[in-house]
Amino acid sequence: MATLGVPRIGPRRELKFALESYWSGRSSAADLLEKAKALRAANWTEQARRGVTRIPSNDFSLYDHVLDTAVMVGAIPPAYHWDGGELPLDSYFAMARGSQGEAASACAHPGHGHGVTALEMTKWFDTNYHYMVPELTDDQVFALASTKPVDHFLEARQLGIHTRPVILGPVTFLKLAKSHQEGFNPISLLPRLLPVYEELLRRLVAAGADWVQIDEPALVLDLIPNERHAFEFAYGRLAGAAPGLKLMLATYFGSLGDNLDTALSLPVAGLHVDLVRAPQQLEKVALGARKDLVLSLGLVDGRNVWRANLASILDRVEPILAVRDMQHLEIAPSCSLLHVPVDLEIETALDPDIKPWLAFAQQKIDELFVLSQALSKGRAAVAAQLQASTDAARARSLSLKVHDPLIEGRLGGIEDAMKQRQANFGERRHRQDRKLGLPAFPTTTIGSFPQTAEVRKARSAHAKGELSYIDYEAFLKRETESAIRWQEEIGLDVLVHGEFERNDMVQYFGEQLSGFAFTQHAWVQSYGSRYVRPPIIFGDVSRPNPMTVRWWRFAQSLTAKPVKGMLTGPVTILNWSFVRDDLPRETVSRQIALAIRDEVADLEAAGAAMIQIDEAALREGLPLRKSDWKAYLDWAVESFRICSSGVADETQIHTHMCYSEFNQIIDAIAAMDADVISIETSRSRMELLDAFNSFKYPNEIGPGVYDIHSPRVPEVGEMAELLVLASKRIGANQLWVNPDCGLKTRRWEEVRPALVNMVAAAHQLRLKAEAA
Ligand code: GLN
Ligand code: ZN
Repeated sequence: MATLGVPRIGPRRELKFALESYWSGRSSAADLLEKAKALRAANWTEQARRGVTRIPSNDFSLYDHVLDTAVMVGAIPPAYHWDGGELPLDSYFAMARGSQGEAASACAHPGHGHGVTALEMTKWFDTNYHYMVPELTDDQVFALASTKPVDHFLEARQLGIHTRPVILGPVTFLKLAKSHQEGFNPISLLPRLLPVYEELLRRLVAAGADWVQIDEPALVLDLIPNERHAFEFAYGRLAGAAPGLKLMLATYFGSLGDNLDTALSLPVAGLHVDLVRAPQQLEKVALGARKDLVLSLGLVDGRNVWRANLASILDRVEPILAVRDMQHLEIAPSCSLLHVPVDLEIETALDPDIKPWLAFAQQKIDELFVLSQALSKGRAAVAAQLQASTDAARARSLSLKVHDPLIEGRLGGIEDAMKQRQANFGERRHRQDRKLGLPAFPTTTIGSFPQTAEVRKARSAHAKGELSYIDYEAFLKRETESAIRWQEEIGLDVLVHGEFERNDMVQYFGEQLSGFAFTQHAWVQSYGSRYVRPPIIFGDVSRPNPMTVRWWRFAQSLTAKPVKGMLTGPVTILNWSFVRDDLPRETVSRQIALAIRDEVADLEAAGAAMIQIDEAALREGLPLRKSDWKAYLDWAVESFRICSSGVADETQIHTHMCYSEFNQIIDAIAAMDADVISIETSRSRMELLDAFNSFKYPNEIGPGVYDIHSPRVPEVGEMAELLVLASKRIGANQLWVNPDCGLKTRRWEEVRPALVNMVAAAHQLRLKAEAA
């Protein structure tokens, strides 16, 4: 029984605090390394105690395992001044965060927001973990520059624990890397990279390793023939590199699909497959595998927080024992446990009905132990544990906290008319123009204003009971009022209330919707020292009461200018939560959509002329396989339309997305049929708008002209120039003027001059347009 990898952050975020203390100069490098070592030791001994027999090492990282791999193979760009020896700790962190440290990201979901010299960061497959993108050149030289896998193997052995080192495989590593050189594909570096891996494997076997887990999640992606050959080439070499060493090739996050034959043909000693995302591949894999291949079955969900139904897993796996003996079977989570929180036991405030339905990393290890006992000794050996699991599954499936017949009935009643605005955009635009009377190039912001230390202090004082509800409300009202006054003063056309009352754009809604649970300590790593604590959607979602109307009404009462109602969309709520696994995601999305639709209706009834529904995370939910994109985009767009289509033609629906890579999904974005969309563009100098060269975007659009990820205050001329660039691809009468994203992570000292300049840029364009 294996874990493939466990969370590195510690049960109480020990790693984060150690890192931040080191970065701020409050503690030494030796302190940090000592704490990291203690976390590794605790992870190893805890796994041994819970019965794991294939305990991973080298799954730990101070920042990111892809970055560690780049460093290990010597792929350290010249900017970091590496001299060929051991990379200094601060150079490592410079690759991760830039030498000035990371600028905060507004979205709390990165891809944005790191210092100038940091490597780029992007999502690890379809998880919310972000890795540092290795940068390679066509004359790249590789060398074994760090022996971290060997060092950690020996470190565990010192504790009397024999581990199975984990390394990121060479093909996935190259596939995740990027190059600035046009037309150069890093995969072509494989022959140059392999000797480094061969040397590493030789050193591991010399240190006493008998197995190595080599992760190749790229095997679940769409591959071109060339990439499949890369696997054959690589493993042909690596399998014989270190006699006596066995390779467990780990695939996860989906089905091997059309890469199955390739995977089964590789001369490795073991193959791990994800049977949670892709249960249907069990039979094919079991039948197709060589007799002597050790199959590692990913049976427990490494991506979600639900307790497994162990008996039903056994029902699926036991027949396999007829064709494969236990010597050639291992059981494991579907993927590394990195993506789930550490320990359910330390949650003391969870609903006692719901808590037994959950399993975090430690509990998942215990589940694997029960499964391994049942498979090796028979179910009777663990009858009580199996019964408890069955009971929990039954309680969950019958619970009235999960199932609300009213919601299930309402879902059945979604008709086409509910997904369709009454008039087409041309007609709506006409009516909205008449009602709103906005100038050309209308100016607005994305929603939030700076969450100052004062705002955060008041929120936490209120949460701790040190600030009364009345005083907290009064404080929020003062903040909101001064934001409204200031927006009027600088001449913005469409105002926002500032979102001072919101802790987070998903949590704020989750806390007011039924079907959501929140934890105290259930953090998972998003990137580096940034962790998130996603809400858990356990039941049918409904909206017992209006969520935002009161704050909108208060803000609108202060001004004659329109104030946007501000909501988070269903797909974003879904993509940033742990979602129940007993319903298809699209069904949960529709439930949330109905709840948001009710909120939209209430905002409109209260008098809101404009309502913004943010879909910040729509793009990141795209499935790994292209063939699955259409189905996802269909229900994602449908969900948005369910939210937004209940309003009168005069009511203007806005949406916002925090990215600019639209080319592949522009049709879906247009199909959402929002009246106005704001997107991120300033950092790419409107390059993204290339998507709009070939596709004529029909509605109104605000390409961000102010990069909110940087403290820099843009000049009037720069922003005016960006707008001129934009108007080359998009009709000037379609353009809005706004920043890239919300302003909550910026300081007022930056935001004030930047928005004054932004308004001035819009004025320049208006004057020009009038003159023409
Ligand atoms: N309305 C949100 C804000 O301004 C949007 C944030 C986001 O897109 N990530 O903060
Ligand atoms: Zn955004």
